Amino acid sequence: MFSSISSSVILEYKKLKNNQSKISSILVSACLAGVKCRYDGADSYNSQLMQELKDSELIICCPELLGGLSVPRTPCNIQGVLGNEVLLGNAKVIGVDNKDYTECYIYGAKKALEIALKHNVQKAFLKQKSPSCGCGQIYSHDGTHLINGDGILAALLKQNGIEIISL
Ligand code: SF4
Repeated sequence: MFSSISSSVILEYKKLKNNQSKISSILVSACLAGVKCRYDGADSYNSQLMQELKDSELIICCPELLGGLSVPRTPCNIQGVLGNEVLLGNAKVIGVDNKDYTECYIYGAKKALEIALKHNVQKAFLKQKSPSCGCGQIYSHDGTHLINGDGILAALLKQNGIEIISL
């Protein structure tokens, strides 16, 4: 398990060997892999998942850190509608401090997609409920309850034909 983040960005590759771009890799939300990259500085380590994937080529990434955000950071939710609407410019990602973080979230999701495509990712294990990684359900605009929909990275990966397993 990772105990700290060694740089401001992340962790694009864990076990990826040099220039193996034709090998299909699996993308994993960094917090599931034990990286303490959540907004509150914690991780969401999933030991069963990591055991199951121990022999796979993994790309471990946190789209919010790829978007330039730090740990800890202001928690955010999608205002109004869902991740795919953020990508279309019809919704924003707003922090509990009322600041607009939309640009960081979109940039990070696009960067994660770029990395995924470069390494022929066909499957992703993403952390549930997050405004970035959430798939199927995310928190409402005020963070009080769950609503049906996808986070921004999940929406983007789906649009590009990548299978998502939400954990
Ligand atoms: S859920 Fe996604 S964006 Fe949030 S900390 Fe985990 S990897 Fe980063």
